[in-house]
Amino acid sequence: MSKRTKWDTKGDLDESKNLPIYQHKATLQQAVKDNSFLVVTGETGSGKTTQLPQYLHQAGLWGNGKIGITQPRRVAAITVAQRVSQEMHCSLGREVGYQVRFDDCTTQDTVVKYMTDGCLLREILADPVLSQYSVVILDEAHERSLNTDILLGLLKQTLSSPDKASKGRSVPLKVVVMSATLETDKLSVFLGGCPVFTIPGRTFPVTSKFSCAIGPKDTESSVYVKEVVKVALDVHTSEMAGDILVFLTGQSEIEKACDMLYEKAESIDYRYDVQDRKVEGLLILPLYGSMPTDQQKQIFQPPPPGIRKCVVATNIAATSLTINGIKYIVDSGFVKQLNHNSRVGMDILEVVPISKSEALQRAGRAGRTSAGKCFRIYSQEFWEKCMPEYTVPEIQRTSLTTVILTLKCLGVHDVIRFPYLDRPEERFIIEALKQLYQCDAIDRRGKVTRLGELMVQFPLPPGLTRALLQAASLGCEDLLLPVAAMLSVENIFIRPGHPEKQKEADKKHRQLGVQAGSCNDFTMLLSVFEKCKASDAPSAWCKDNYIHWRALKSAFSVETQLREILLRLQNRRDFPMEKFDGNKSELFRRCLCTGYFTNVARRSVGKVFCTMDGHGSMVHIHPSSTLFDQEAQLDWVIFHDLLVTSRIYIRTVCPIRYDWVKDLLPKLHEVDVYELSSVAREEVTDEEVAKWVTKEAAKRQTEGSAEDL
Ligand code: ADP
Ligand code: MG
Repeated sequence: MSKRTKWDTKGDLDESKNLPIYQHKATLQQAVKDNSFLVVTGETGSGKTTQLPQYLHQAGLWGNGKIGITQPRRVAAITVAQRVSQEMHCSLGREVGYQVRFDDCTTQDTVVKYMTDGCLLREILADPVLSQYSVVILDEAHERSLNTDILLGLLKQTLSSPDKASKGRSVPLKVVVMSATLETDKLSVFLGGCPVFTIPGRTFPVTSKFSCAIGPKDTESSVYVKEVVKVALDVHTSEMAGDILVFLTGQSEIEKACDMLYEKAESIDYRYDVQDRKVEGLLILPLYGSMPTDQQKQIFQPPPPGIRKCVVATNIAATSLTINGIKYIVDSGFVKQLNHNSRVGMDILEVVPISKSEALQRAGRAGRTSAGKCFRIYSQEFWEKCMPEYTVPEIQRTSLTTVILTLKCLGVHDVIRFPYLDRPEERFIIEALKQLYQCDAIDRRGKVTRLGELMVQFPLPPGLTRALLQAASLGCEDLLLPVAAMLSVENIFIRPGHPEKQKEADKKHRQLGVQAGSCNDFTMLLSVFEKCKASDAPSAWCKDNYIHWRALKSAFSVETQLREILLRLQNRRDFPMEKFDGNKSELFRRCLCTGYFTNVARRSVGKVFCTMDGHGSMVHIHPSSTLFDQEAQLDWVIFHDLLVTSRIYIRTVCPIRYDWVKDLLPKLHEVDVYELSSVAREEVTDEEVAKWVTKEAAKRQTEGSAEDL
C-alpha cells in the first residue's frame, strides 16, 4: 500500500515540555531581560524558534510593543507561526501572526510576529529604531542570508550608538540572535562580546554511508533523482521502522521523485519484500517553498500506525523546519542556490553541490530521537573533490543592489566600511553601485535620487521597479502592474508530464500568445492576467488553459498590493510625470526598455544572441518563450532573466527597436570603477565629478555607437 492522501491526527501540543529548551525557560527569560544583545544556540529541533518567543511573551517582555522573529525563508515564517498560534490557543493573525512579502497575516492584536528578514529590513526603512518592537529575534543566523547579515550590522550600529538607540523609544530594544551551532563566538564578538546561551542538546549517533552512484561528473538532475528514489525504496524495504527524509533541490525534481516513488511503492508486496513486518505502507509527502500551506502542515503529523512516512524536501528541512520521527536520510548532495555568475554578470539560481558542513547538518536530522542512518548517494571522491568545507555566506556570492540601496536610503553613505559580519568583495559593492547608477537610483556622487527613494518602496528587483515607475509616470501603470505581479509569483504555466497532455498545453499556451496581439512574453503575461480576471469562472478558465490557478490568485493579490504602494507614491507632489505620443504596444515596450536596458541582446547568427552589457555572452531564447523558433525574425531583444545549463538561455523575452535603447546603452559603460569606489567610501567634491565627466565625454567620442557592434 502506498498513500498520499490527507488524514487527520492532531499533533501533541504538550510535547513542547519535552523539548531541550524547556529546562532553561527561566534562565533564558532572565538573560534576555539582563542584556541588550544575546546569542542563543542549540541543536536544530531543540525548540528555539517555536518556544523562545512564547517564553518572552509569558515573561511580559513585549511591554507595549511586539516580539518580532525573522526567518530567512517565507515557508518557515508561515508554518512556525501556525504552530505557535496553535500552542498559544489563538487564531492565526491575532496574538500570533506572520508577515512575508505580499502576505500580511497580522492584526492590531499581534504581539508575536514571525516574518521574513526581508520584511523587517523594509520596516527599518520606515522606522529605523523599530519603535513598534520590544524584542527582535534574528533566527537562523547560521544560514547567513543576505538580509539577516545586513540586519545584524544595522542593529549593531543602532544599539551601539546610545543616541540613536533611545531616539523615539520608551524602552530600549532587545536583540536576540539565534543560530543552530556554527560561529556563535564570531557572532558574540561581532555584537560587542555579548553573552552566548547554549541549550545543551542530546543527539544520537548517525552512521553515514557513501555510495559510488554519483561521482564528480554526474550532475544531471535526472541521474540523481533516479538514484535517490532507488535508495529511498531500498531503505523502505530493508530497514526497520522509522521515517525517511530525502533531500533534493526544488519543486519539479521533488514532484518527479514523488511520482516515481508512488508508482514503485504500489508494486511492493508487503508479505515478501519488506524486512520489518510492522511496516505496511509508505506515505509519500513533498515539501518545498511554494507548496500550499495546508499540505505543508501534513508533514508534521505522525503517520498512521504501520505506515512509514517519506518526506521529499528541499534544503528547508535541513534547519528551518524539524520533522519528528525521522530515522533515515537520503542525501542527493545538491542544493539550489542563488549565485552571482561572473560569466554573464547576473545572479542565477544554480544547482550546486552542498558543502561538507551542510552534509553533516542534513545527516544530523536522523539522530534527534534515536540513532539514525544517512545514505549519501555520492561517492567519497565527490565529497573530497566537489564539496566545499562551508557554504559561502549569501552576502559574498549574490548581487547587493537592493540592500545597498536600502543602506543608502537609511543614511549609510559609506557602504564599504559598514559593519559586515563577513565583508563582501569590494567589486560586488561597486557592481551594485554601478547598477543603481545605471537605473538612476543614485547620482554620480553616490547620493540617493528622488527616483531611488521611490524605487526602494517596492519589494521588486530594481530593473522591474524602474520599468514600473516609468510606466506610472507615463500614466500606463495598468500595463506594467500585472506584469510585475506575474513575475513575482511562482511559474503560472502548467507543464504536464504526459507527452500528449504536454502537446495540448503547449497548443493552449500558444493560442493565448497569439491572442495577445503583439506577441512577446511580457504581453503574454499581461494577457493571461487580464483574461483570467475578466472570466466569470476563473479557476475553470485556468484549468482549461493549463494555468496554475493558485499562482494566478497570488498574482491578483500582489498586483493589488503593488498598486497600493504606487498610489501612495503618486500622491506625493514630487512624483515624476512625462508625456508620450506613440502607440500602446510601443509605449509598453519602451517602458520595459527603461528598466531592462541592462538585459539587451542582439541576434548575431542563426539563433544565437549576444548580450550588450559588456560581458558579450552568447545566449539562446528558452524553449518556453513565445518567441522560440521565431529567432530569424528578430534583431534586438530584452529579457527578464537567464537560465544557465550547458547553454545560456534568456527567459521572458520581448523584441525591441535599437532606437529605444540607443541612448541608454552608453550608460552601461559610462561609470568607471575608480569613480564608484570613491563614491562608495566618502562624499565626493564637485570638482572631482567635473573631472570624470570630461574624461568620459572624451572616451565616448572615441567609442563610436553600439549599432556598429
Ligand atoms: P529549533 O528552532 O531549535 O530548530 P523548533 O522550535 O523549530 O526548534 O522545533 C521544536 C519542535 O517543534 C520540533 O519537534 C518540531 O517538530 C516542532 N514543530 C515545529 N513546527 C511545527 C509545526 N508547524 N507543526 C508541528 N510541529 C512543529
Ligand atoms: Mg529554528
